[in-house]
Amino acid sequence: MISDPSPRQRKVVLLGSTGSIGTSALKVAQDIPERMQIVGLAANRSVETLESQLATTGVQHAAMWDPDAASNLRDRVSPDIHVDEGEEGLIRLATLEEADMVLIAIIGVAGLRPTLAAIEAGKDIAIASKEILVMAGEIVMEAAARKGVKVLPIDSEHNAIYQCLENAPADGHSISRLILTASGGPFRTLPADQLGEVTLEQALKHPTWDMGNKITIDSATLFNKGLEMIEARWLFQTPMQKVDVIVHPQSIVHSMVEFVDGSILAQLSHSDMCFPIQYAVTWPDRVANTLDPLDFAKLASLDFEAPRVDDFPALRLAREAGERGGTLPSVLNAANEVAVEAFTQRQIGFPQIWEIVEATMQAHDHVPHAPLESILTADNWARDHAASMIP
Ligand code: MG
Repeated sequence: MISDPSPRQRKVVLLGSTGSIGTSALKVAQDIPERMQIVGLAANRSVETLESQLATTGVQHAAMWDPDAASNLRDRVSPDIHVDEGEEGLIRLATLEEADMVLIAIIGVAGLRPTLAAIEAGKDIAIASKEILVMAGEIVMEAAARKGVKVLPIDSEHNAIYQCLENAPADGHSISRLILTASGGPFRTLPADQLGEVTLEQALKHPTWDMGNKITIDSATLFNKGLEMIEARWLFQTPMQKVDVIVHPQSIVHSMVEFVDGSILAQLSHSDMCFPIQYAVTWPDRVANTLDPLDFAKLASLDFEAPRVDDFPALRLAREAGERGGTLPSVLNAANEVAVEAFTQRQIGFPQIWEIVEATMQAHDHVPHAPLESILTADNWARDHAASMIP
C-alpha cells in the first residue's frame, strides 16, 4: 500500500465552537491533526470556554457575537490573539485568508450572513446549523454552485445521505426516495391524549443523542425532523415528495437512499457527531481515527416504524413549508423557536408548540422564491406573530 505523500490538511474556521457540535469538532481536530487544523474560533458569549479553547489550540483568530463578551475576552487573552466581535466580526473570521473551510455550528439565524460571505470568498462549507438551509437553502445552494464550493452537511442524517449518494449520477434520476431516520423522541410511544401533560423535564430527555436544549425539544415534537426534511430538499435539490421519514429508535442507521431499482443504501455508526464532522472535513477521503466502530454482534436489534404524523403535526407542517418554499420555511422555523422558548419558560404546554407554528403559518402572506431580505422580514414577522399568541 502506498501512502499519500501529502494528505490534504483542511484549515478550518469553526463558528460556534463552545456548543455541542463545536466541542465535537475540536475533538475531531485533535484526533486527526494531519487532516484538520483549526485556524479560527467563534462563539456567542461563553468567554471562559472560548478562552480555554484558544489556549489549548493555539488559534490566533477569534470572534464573539456579543461585543461585551468580546471585550472581556480581549482582556483575558494574549494581545497576539485577534478578537473580533458582532456579525461583522464573524463575517471577517469566516472569510479569513488562510482558511479553506468554514464549519458553521451556530444555533439560529446568526450564521446566515457569515455563511454567505464564506461562500463568496470561495470557502467550502461544513454546515451543522439547520436554520441556514431551512431559511435560505435556495439562496445558499445557488451561491455555492455559482462559486464552485462544496456544502458538506454535518447533521447526521444529511451526512448519511451524502455518503449514500457518493456514487450516484448527479442528475438525481436514479433516486426514488431520501429516507431520513428519526429517533422518535421521548414521546414516541406516549398515547396522544397524554401529550398535553408532558413536562419540560420529560421533553429534555432524549433517548439516544446528547444535544442542546432547543434541538432536544425539537426532537420531542418532531420539528427537528421537519426542519431536516426542508434541509434535505435544498441540499440534495430533491422535490419534497421524495423526502420521507422513518422512525428508528436506536439511531444507528443515520439515513438511507432508495434508488429506482429498489436498492437502498444506508450509513451506520454509533450516534456520535464526530463521525459526520470527520467525513465532512476529510471528504472525499476516508481516514482512520480512534472512534469506536460498530459491533453488529452487540446490537440487539434495529427497529423501524412509521412516524405518528397525526399525533405530531410537525412533519405535515414542514412538508407544506418545504413544498411551497419561499418565505414559509422561515416562518415555520421562527414561530417554532419562539414557541420552544416559551415552552422552556413553562409559559405554554407541549402541544401549543405546533399549534402556534400552524397558526403563524396560516396567518402569513407567503412570498415564493423570496430574496434574502423578504426571508429575514418574514422571520421577524413570524417571531412577533408567534409571541403575540403566548399568554
Ligand atoms: Mg439530525
